[in-house]
Amino acid sequence: MILPRRQFLVGGSAMAATALTPSGAGAQAPGTGANGLVLTGRPVQGGHAIGRTWPRALVFVDGEALTTASADGTFLVGFDRDAPTTTQIEVRSAAPPGRSVRQTLAIAPGRFASTRIDGLPPATIAPTDPDLLARIQREIALKTEGFASRTDADHFSDGFIWPLERFRVSSRWGSQRVLNGTPARPHYGIDLAAPQGTPIRAPADGRVTFARTGLHFEGGLVLIDHGQGLITAYLHQSRLDVRAGQSIRRGERIGRVGMSGRATGPHLCWRMKWRDRNLDPSLMVENA
Ligand SMILES: [Zn+2]
Repeated sequence: MILPRRQFLVGGSAMAATALTPSGAGAQAPGTGANGLVLTGRPVQGGHAIGRTWPRALVFVDGEALTTASADGTFLVGFDRDAPTTTQIEVRSAAPPGRSVRQTLAIAPGRFASTRIDGLPPATIAPTDPDLLARIQREIALKTEGFASRTDADHFSDGFIWPLERFRVSSRWGSQRVLNGTPARPHYGIDLAAPQGTPIRAPADGRVTFARTGLHFEGGLVLIDHGQGLITAYLHQSRLDVRAGQSIRRGERIGRVGMSGRATGPHLCWRMKWRDRNLDPSLMVENA
């Protein structure tokens, strides 16, 4: 069952009228509408669109074949922090082939703050020790494997819950970071401050593709594959309750809040990637 999601106007064409028809109101629900494509979601930098189209349709994003709709016609497209002002999404039917629909989406600009963090141990900013550099490279290889997982599922279509029951947002997604006075890459996580040991729960169904403690930057890290290239990450944990390869349901505990790795206090850094694009996970949570 697809939860009702914010729908947005697409293009300036007749398709918009179909896109705004509430699902269930008409003969085509919960399908694609007459035109073969309905988009919902958060069309903003760091946001995403969820599409409904023909089963197994091929999805082109700005002319590139990036993904395939699920067996019931659901697909996801993510928008980078620096996504251009418009994105074109085209779907091509697989069976029978030959049908296609194209829509152009306006992508709203994100509002990203600048954040200074001082007092971090220098080795966590610009490490020079050869042993440490080698260790970081090994950890990158392991994480890359976890992020490369591509489960054939669309668990994102049921929506996300927050991974913590209670928290304070201590750093928003996408902020430009200045670490110990040196500009660094943007913060591709949302930091949820909570006491050490607070349970962390899976925000949606998925499969654990990585679960390890002791990483140099991330400390205790878990990655969950929600399908179609959508992977979420949970950093700095003090304890892990899952293993790689395990299937997990929404709400199940995956670990506990900590401050392992590069952190100045107990918090959960929650991250999300769609393929190679970094997304704001809070935009997946309904009414966030
Ligand atoms: Zn963070």
